[in-house]
Amino acid sequence: MLRTQKLGEADRIVTLLTRQHGKVRAVAKGVRRTASKFGARLEPFMVADLQLYEGRSLDVITQAESISSYGALITADYSSYTAASAMVETADKLTESEGSLQQYLLLVGALRSLSRHEHGASLTLDSYLLRALSMAGWAPSFQDCSRCGARGPHSAVVVQLGGVVCDTCAPPGSPRLTADTIALLGALLTGDWDYAKQSAEQTKAQATGVVAAYTQWHLERGLRSLEHVSR
Ligand SMILES: [Zn+2]
Repeated sequence: MLRTQKLGEADRIVTLLTRQHGKVRAVAKGVRRTASKFGARLEPFMVADLQLYEGRSLDVITQAESISSYGALITADYSSYTAASAMVETADKLTESEGSLQQYLLLVGALRSLSRHEHGASLTLDSYLLRALSMAGWAPSFQDCSRCGARGPHSAVVVQLGGVVCDTCAPPGSPRLTADTIALLGALLTGDWDYAKQSAEQTKAQATGVVAAYTQWHLERGLRSLEHVSR
């Protein structure tokens, strides 16, 4: 479940990212009534097994079976909630034209990890964003120069150029980051949690700044929910 919007008195339009059919918008009838047969199964962050039938303009959800309880666990914790909100908004934007099984699995895995408090909300979100953007064709480089390919490590990071750049390619005044921060960004991209977790708070904060800038650069109009993430 990516997002929902009200429809009429008691219904909602639910935007779903599905395993096999990409992004789907469907109507959930009567879902806003307290005695709805759907309960809370059609809320954002929920992972559910659905049955739909083809309606006149939108499909209609006839059955919903919860297959995980991530949603409730995430909503109960503010930092998880804001991180999950940024994740579903990103998934929503990245799957504008078509969804993919990879994006679906990445999102479900990140939500599950978040609900279990495995790596902290902020690191989980940063890693998700880097990997989701990579899958969408915008893989950053945190090792070799993203412009000319010169062997790293490099210290200048220019999100508009795709990550680290060598001294020849770096425009004057490019921000420089510590080797620790660049190594952390690489670890978040590959999912090296053992490395990521031992990073200093200041390093994590610097990496978060880079990930946020990289995400905003690639997603037109930016992410509204990223502004609410408590860091
Ligand atoms: Zn270069």
